[in-house]
Amino acid sequence: MAHRTQLKNAKRIVVKVGTSTLFLENGKPDLYRIEHLIRELSALRNEGREVIFVSSGAIAYGMNEAGMREKPADIPKKQALAAIGQSGLMHLYKRFFADYGQTTAQVLLTKENAARHHQYTNSRNALLSLLELGVIPVINENDVVAIDEIKIGDNDNLSATVAVLTDADALLILSDIDGVYTGNPSKDKDARRIEEILEITPEIERMAGGAGSSFGTGGMATKIEAARIALNAGVTMVIAKGSDDEVIRRVFSGDVLGTIFPAREAHLRTRQNWLAFGKRIEGTIAVDEGCANAILTGKSSLLAAGIVSVEGDFPAGSSVRILAPSGQEIGRGITNYNASDMEKIKGLKSRDFKAILGASARDEVIHRDNLVLLAQGMEAAAWR
Ligand code: ADP
Repeated sequence: MAHRTQLKNAKRIVVKVGTSTLFLENGKPDLYRIEHLIRELSALRNEGREVIFVSSGAIAYGMNEAGMREKPADIPKKQALAAIGQSGLMHLYKRFFADYGQTTAQVLLTKENAARHHQYTNSRNALLSLLELGVIPVINENDVVAIDEIKIGDNDNLSATVAVLTDADALLILSDIDGVYTGNPSKDKDARRIEEILEITPEIERMAGGAGSSFGTGGMATKIEAARIALNAGVTMVIAKGSDDEVIRRVFSGDVLGTIFPAREAHLRTRQNWLAFGKRIEGTIAVDEGCANAILTGKSSLLAAGIVSVEGDFPAGSSVRILAPSGQEIGRGITNYNASDMEKIKGLKSRDFKAILGASARDEVIHRDNLVLLAQGMEAAAWR
């Protein structure tokens, strides 16, 4: 129960909806359901929560527009349908969200965006900026250009990757079934729903079996993979049924429905440790007393004005050490600038360095969202 009530306080939320929830059996979009879900997401946003929407359905939408009933096996054809459908689906979402006063942004990702060092930071910064602007990012895999090697492959995994990328508090996966069952309910009449999964054991993986509906792709197996990614990074995940009335509001009010995978404290630390220790450190920034204080007590970003010296030759997006005037390491973070640009702007105020690097240069050298403090005993302590 305690895990459920935590969801009430979840501030940054990723919601993923599967194709089977968005489309009717006859291949048409289920406008009634789509509008209902969008109203619920808008209501979360109005409560002051940050919302990221991961939606499948581009190919299904494209098939509908092109008047096709059978999904083609041919990859270029699927990509063509995804191109048709992605813009159509986004147009529909934008209209519905606008009805409820929300601004949306389309973000198309591939695995490379999440795995490659500098792209990881770029994707993260872009998503965090959208959230800061109060916008609801609508995310899908970039099916139109993605080939197998750069594909995440299914939106269950994509949604977990996005939740980790953005340090979300919770991930809700909406499916055509109200949670994980002890066996595939379409085959096993005695299968029962599991309310809470604390650990992903081989037994749970076995229960999740293979793919499910004709429209959906991953079945329960990819949702369990998503849960593993989410839990390892300290993100609580819930699987619930997309067609249940007010399902989103109820999950985030702490009602007991679906299957919850609660993130544990230990996992929470993993996420911060990854930023602090999991990445290779490529340089060192020494800051002055004022800057060190602003970072340690003022929850401030690291600004160029406070930088005294830069060591190393690193690209933007690298992990660097931050040293106080005493020489003590006070934190680590991911930089927005490469070493040579940082050398040029160190000690300067934003308006002065913008004359050197151009008006579009970012104010923060390290944004506070990409900064981890190292307190006594090298225990990582991050804030948001
Ligand atoms: P979506 O399109 O929402 O991502 P899928 O159709 O891909 O959904 O996956 C959900 C389906 O997975 C269920 O409808 C069910 O048929 C199947 N499934 C297989 N094993 C299980 C299980 N242990 N518990 C629940 N559903 C399961």
